[in-house]
Amino acid sequence: MPRTHQSLPRLFVDAPMRAGSILAPDKSQSNYLGNVLRMRTGDELVVFNGIEGAWRAAITRSGGKALELTVCELVAPQTPPSDLWYGFAPLKTGRLDYMVQKATEMGAGIIQPVITRHTQKTRLKPDRLRANVVEAAEQCEVLSLPGIAEEIPLPRLIASWSEQQPARMLVFADEGEASASPMEALQGLAGRRIGLLIGPEGGFSNEERALLRQQEFVIPISLGPRILRADTAAVAALAVIQSIIGDWR
Ligand code: SAM
Repeated sequence: MPRTHQSLPRLFVDAPMRAGSILAPDKSQSNYLGNVLRMRTGDELVVFNGIEGAWRAAITRSGGKALELTVCELVAPQTPPSDLWYGFAPLKTGRLDYMVQKATEMGAGIIQPVITRHTQKTRLKPDRLRANVVEAAEQCEVLSLPGIAEEIPLPRLIASWSEQQPARMLVFADEGEASASPMEALQGLAGRRIGLLIGPEGGFSNEERALLRQQEFVIPISLGPRILRADTAAVAALAVIQSIIGDWR
């Protein structure tokens, strides 16, 4: 993907964008640009809103609490939203931030917290999850932000899958699967709508594994001979999916 003005800071601003638009970053964004990056009137950055591409913008008022930006020109067209569904059992806060950021960087389009028997963290803060998505998108030139679904218990996810996710296959990272490369299983899914499910630190219960493996829409995969930590497994599984049947090809 052509890198657009990679030397300029990038800022997500939830506002319409076209040449000449005036943008008012929020307080923390103004503080970041003005006090952390010490940007002043005339300095430039890239802004995006998740639907209208990336735009070069200039600071037209600085100093004081609120900066003002003026949008100059489109520098990258909007990318289509990803259809990659990513389900995971939330981990404790710090690693939860990491998992959401990595899923965004790796091209997830839907981020779905799934509550399983051994899930450590069941009360999530949607604003915090969203802030992690935005931070990762700003850092990695992601233009189409993944949506974050409300957490769902695994049994309800399975029961509603065919209706909620028609024609989507669910790649189940099963730590109990005999060690093997996931290459073949994934190649068989080329061209299909895909979801990925990663379990919690304590793994899936035997009942959960059996329930998942009974489903026609589930494709169990191994991630090799070692038991990976959940956040490692997430990045590893997303990497093989993107490289074999996803947007890295
Ligand atoms: N029960 C183990 C434990 O308590 O450490 C395994 C859990 S593992 C840390 C978390 C999740 O990562 C698993 O539920 C699975 O989704 C995925 N995972 C880790 N290693 C894997 C492997 N070798 N093959 C497939 N999935 C794996």
